[in-house]
Amino acid sequence: MIVRTRFAPSPTGYLHIGGARTALFSWAYARKHGGQFILRIEDTDLERSTQQSIQAILDGMAWLGLDYDEGPFYQMQRLARYHEVAEQLLENNQAYYCYATREELENMREQQLAAGLKPRYDGRWRDSRKTPPTDVKPVIRLKNPLEGHVTFNDQIKGKITVANTELDDLVLLRSDGVPTYNFSVVIDDLDMNITHVIRGDDHVNNTPRQINILKALNAPLPQYAHVPMILGANGERLSKRHGAVSVIQYREDGYLPEALLNYLARLGWSHGDEEIFSREQLVEWFDLAAISRSPAKFNPEKLHWINQQYLKATDNACLAELVTPFLAKNHCQIDGGPDLALVVDLLKERVNTIEELADAAVYFYRPLEPADELRAQHLTAEAKPIMIGLLEKFHHIEWTRESIHQEIKAVVKEHDVKFPKIAMPLRVMVTGEIHTPSIDAVLALLGREETLTRMNSHLGNFQD
Ligand code: GLU
Repeated sequence: MIVRTRFAPSPTGYLHIGGARTALFSWAYARKHGGQFILRIEDTDLERSTQQSIQAILDGMAWLGLDYDEGPFYQMQRLARYHEVAEQLLENNQAYYCYATREELENMREQQLAAGLKPRYDGRWRDSRKTPPTDVKPVIRLKNPLEGHVTFNDQIKGKITVANTELDDLVLLRSDGVPTYNFSVVIDDLDMNITHVIRGDDHVNNTPRQINILKALNAPLPQYAHVPMILGANGERLSKRHGAVSVIQYREDGYLPEALLNYLARLGWSHGDEEIFSREQLVEWFDLAAISRSPAKFNPEKLHWINQQYLKATDNACLAELVTPFLAKNHCQIDGGPDLALVVDLLKERVNTIEELADAAVYFYRPLEPADELRAQHLTAEAKPIMIGLLEKFHHIEWTRESIHQEIKAVVKEHDVKFPKIAMPLRVMVTGEIHTPSIDAVLALLGREETLTRMNSHLGNFQD
């Protein structure tokens, strides 16, 4: 058997963390078994589906490197096929036209609720001999078995059994000819020879209904694996504030796709104590049995940490390329400034994302004005003559990290002050900040001319 899995998003929003993780698990399962992974866009919700959302899904998958072997298929291009199967079910007396109007259904529902019953379609057109009204466009409903049970062995949740009396006669085709989710998903999984349906457990209640459609068609059943949902760090539903944002937003915020992929894999799946692993290792180790049965919690700090591990391991030239657009957004002119690969090397241990890396690198490419408190605290009357002396000496020394360091040390000794008394005003003057890597390294990279220009420009800003 060739394993065939699919990711079947509805293009009604962005590709968010939950969707991306489902896609990842399906992808990893197919890759692990040398199988195929298929992308299918479930665009039958005409009001909510958008082209923009389709694009966001495609972009998100491409960025994460979730490559598919077939697709994207679009359900709205397969309407003729759904009609054909619906016809077949009608002919075999496994489906029927239902002419109940919206009002009628609403009344039915109200009465059932008033009687303390679960609202469900009562089957009034199932074996009806009534003459159909001419002014109502019918839907097509499945003749769900009236007795017995549906049982399936979920690869994550274990055995699940539902009585057929719990299921009503589900609509297959709406009166406008558009299929319902449950119908189109079944026909597609069948036609696309999907062997393993791996999806979010918000669909677990749909599965018995889908199985009944497959049974009516005498079709083989796929394996099902329903992945528990992802909760926010606060234990509640994943909200915008807690990671329910578009995957592409993570790119914009400076995450590395390999890091996000690694993190997503660890959301509800594990392989021993491994936290950092490559795409190849994930594929080698991936196993449905190791998916947790309880919901995963989205932990932004852990994602930060993983991203940092990947940043540290990424080579400088590659990081320089990634950080360039972020610096451009920060109005930095890189050409003519310090070598970006060296700047990145100096800063990468200190940041969690590419965006933070860019923020930390700005002062290498344009001067930053120090905040008033920093001026007040560090550009003191006492520091001024020392800085003037240092500035003078900087004209003559060899411009290397080592000589700059020696010169600062000499000044420390000469004035009998602690190192920060020199380093802090120097940082404020040259970088506008106080949190920087070793100041000698920063100055060496920035270059003599720029350092002297910036120091000079601040001489008038000292207190009297
Ligand atoms: N289109 C469905 C959704 O986005 C998924 C269907 C499935 O995986 O079976 O929730």
